[in-house]
Amino acid sequence: MTTMLNVKDLRAYYGQVQALHGLSFALNEGSLTTLLGANGAGKTTTLRAICNMVRSTGAIEFEGKPLSGKSTENVVRLGIAHVPQGRGTFTTMTVEENLQLGAITRTDKKNIVADIERMYEHFPVLKERHTQQAGTLSGGEQQMLAVARALMLRPRLMLLDEPSFGLAPLIVRELFKILGKINREDKVTILVVEQNAQLALELADQAYVIETGRIVMSGSAKDIANNEDVRKSYLGY
Ligand code: ATP
Repeated sequence: MTTMLNVKDLRAYYGQVQALHGLSFALNEGSLTTLLGANGAGKTTTLRAICNMVRSTGAIEFEGKPLSGKSTENVVRLGIAHVPQGRGTFTTMTVEENLQLGAITRTDKKNIVADIERMYEHFPVLKERHTQQAGTLSGGEQQMLAVARALMLRPRLMLLDEPSFGLAPLIVRELFKILGKINREDKVTILVVEQNAQLALELADQAYVIETGRIVMSGSAKDIANNEDVRKSYLGY
């Protein structure tokens, strides 16, 4: 198996506050990995550090290339898309304009129309609403649009921060099913940060558990789901 992302001894800081304390983990190419942890454990910070949006030390390699010193924009250009918590679609633009904008940094412009169609296959509701302003969509539809927009970059790796946040359980299941399909069919490696451990472990093939800025457990999602400590702390049974 090929390692796509290798994170070593990552430490991150907000001013004087240290949020990550020597975190190390790796993602295999083609995997769907979840990073689980309680509120404040450092999940969001981990994704932000990969994208160079927070001051950090340590080594992060993506497809063998070091990411340190690269601007967020250049990290994106290398093929890493980040869907932050809170979605961040352009609310006064239409669904289709949001998708077009997602492809703005791409150099291969010729497949954009086909890629928008592919997004409508994954998310039929976005096709129905393609002329509607993003701000008028439901929370679930906006999250789907945020994912679809990130995919318009044709990323090799997609980082998703708490995609289930604020969504009804049925919508989360639907979204996670589509994420699985995107991972398998479109060959996008996915790292998803979640507080909803149960669903995330059903979706993922690999899992890491983070506590106070350190990885405390790693393994197949199945093994992690069966681990007694994880069940008590994160699954509630
Ligand atoms: P959540 O699920 O609540 O988003 P998280 O696991 O994503 O939690 P982070 O948001 O990464 O956790 O936060 C990790 C630590 O960094 C926490 O102790 C938090 O208080 C701190 N932190 C996060 N953002 C800032 C900030 N802008 N300024 C100072 N400290 C911060």
